[in-house]
Amino acid sequence: MSDFNPRNLSESKDKDLEGIIRPQGLDDFTGQKEIISNLEIYIKAAKLRGESLDHTLFHGPPGLGKTTLAHIIANEMGVNMKITSGPVLDKPGDLAGLLTSLEEGDVLFIDEIHRLSPEVEEYLYSAMEDYVIDIMIDKGPGARSVRISLNPFTLVGATTRSGLLTAPLRERFGINCPLEYYDYNELIKIVERSASILKIEIDTEAAKEIAMRSRGTPRIANALLKRVRDFAQVKGNGRIDLEITKFALDKLKIDTRGLDSIDNKILRTIITTFKGGPVGANTIATAIGEDQGTFEEVYEPFLIKEGFIIRTQRGRIATDLAYSHLGFESYKRPENENTLF
Ligand code: ADP
Repeated sequence: MSDFNPRNLSESKDKDLEGIIRPQGLDDFTGQKEIISNLEIYIKAAKLRGESLDHTLFHGPPGLGKTTLAHIIANEMGVNMKITSGPVLDKPGDLAGLLTSLEEGDVLFIDEIHRLSPEVEEYLYSAMEDYVIDIMIDKGPGARSVRISLNPFTLVGATTRSGLLTAPLRERFGINCPLEYYDYNELIKIVERSASILKIEIDTEAAKEIAMRSRGTPRIANALLKRVRDFAQVKGNGRIDLEITKFALDKLKIDTRGLDSIDNKILRTIITTFKGGPVGANTIATAIGEDQGTFEEVYEPFLIKEGFIIRTQRGRIATDLAYSHLGFESYKRPENENTLF
């Protein structure tokens, strides 16, 4: 069986189903309680004043609901949303076209906003601040700049790498929301909600098992649910019970704690190559073939949250849990070895 990577759901035909199971309103959204209750207030206040919502930035690892929240903002504000992404907007002209097409109060969603080119980003500043853009007309000696007014709009930016945003761009977002991994109970709710929308019969124990193996991420929870359903339909009677869930997830090589192959590679590298640490983020990143920022912002937070690694001033240390998870005996540190526990 080819390796199943639930992080890559966008490559699968299941993408069509995403629209159906995506929560549509704030009430429908599980988890991220503080962000949701704040957004509720900001949206109400903007509506009371008859203004567009302030520009909003969502940041956090993939699959936690950034795009979903952008849709929800547009729904709750009762406006349309245009969607684009940092790497797609490679010329200022592309951005100008989008901005001038926005109606009053509309949402412009820019995914991967950390990947905007500096030229396009600069254009965005005046659009965000004063709702104007200066467009260059003609080339050479006849070139001149024309100022165009825009309708007030809300820019919603999403990024997995907030560390790469420039300060001027970050400062132009009035609302800044860091998304956290979901806890076990929230994920159970998400799995049960998606199952009910997709009319999948699922036992509570099975929903719990899927939640436990979802790496704190709704996108992964939904992807696993759909794959387990395939197994239940072909190998079982269609109903998802604990037995078929365990069978399917083991076949899919989904770790009992939800760690994927990269997570396991990180732990194995710290343990086998660096004697359990402490080892610097940069060194780990190089060893696994990633850049340091991606390691720190995308992979590491979950491993820390689940207690597999600890971050100290001298670097990362694998915990006993990491050793036992990979089936290694814990490293007995010599008494004189100074760690910062
Ligand atoms: P991101 O933009 O952060 O990568 P998405 O918003 O695309 O993540 O969410 C990924 C998937 O997870 C979507 O199918 C969405 O329906 C689902 N999802 C995300 N957050 C939630 C949530 N809080 N409750 C239910 N489903 C969610």
